[in-house]
Amino acid sequence: MPATPAWPPKSLPRLFVRAQLRDGVRVDLDADQANYLGNVMRLGEGAELLVFDGTSGEWLARISEAGKKRMALTVEQRTREPEAIPDVWLAFAPVKRTQTDWLVEKATELGIAKLIPVITQRTIAERVKLERLRSIATEAAEQCGRTRLPTIDEPISLAQLLKQADRAIYFADEGGGEPAASAFKPGPAVILTGPEGGFTDDERAVIRAAPNAIPVSLGPRILRAETAALAALAVYMAVAGDWC
Ligand code: SAM
Repeated sequence: MPATPAWPPKSLPRLFVRAQLRDGVRVDLDADQANYLGNVMRLGEGAELLVFDGTSGEWLARISEAGKKRMALTVEQRTREPEAIPDVWLAFAPVKRTQTDWLVEKATELGIAKLIPVITQRTIAERVKLERLRSIATEAAEQCGRTRLPTIDEPISLAQLLKQADRAIYFADEGGGEPAASAFKPGPAVILTGPEGGFTDDERAVIRAAPNAIPVSLGPRILRAETAALAALAVYMAVAGDWC
């Protein structure tokens, strides 16, 4: 007999909702979500789905009203408690739009707690569109099973970051540093990566002078900015985060 295919998994749709979830509560969906469930997923009254609000874990809900443009759910029971997210932030110099979108999506999947766009001397990105990035992170969280969304901060300068970051700053320095896998230690941390053109020598000196900065190397090749950010985060999760 052929084996039951493991893919695609028989999973319920998952949605982030802006409501405080608890047993029996009714949730009115916004037009986009109603359209997604009704017209894209072809779900109607009585269908089950999973919902999360970013704080209370994950809940099983059922469509209790399905109109052409409106839909309401009734929450039935909690399926998961909120998970613990490692206290690691990613401070990254924004790059071009497509690559920044990709970075935000993948960092959310990898388990980042907070993303901080950092404007450096060589940052050439267009304006950072926070609402767009937050909606990309929300979709990634829906897809990967997170019950908490990452925070995405307003852009700040490198000087502000160094002042505010009261935690280990793992500075991805293409000029060299301790190998990332041995440098990363559990505990509050921020990974700092530069723009396409790299940090200037002045910036590198200022970062290295910070008492909580630990320069790290991501190997002998020069990685693209978004690759460096995600590679560093993956290594962090493997040796000091929640993959171990
Ligand atoms: N300065 C470089 C140049 O133009 O030749 C390139 C900078 S690199 C594209 C962008 C950022 O990724 C760097 O500022 C650094 O934070 C990080 N990065 C890339 N490769 C790295 C490596 N091998 N080790 C540590 N960090 C790296």
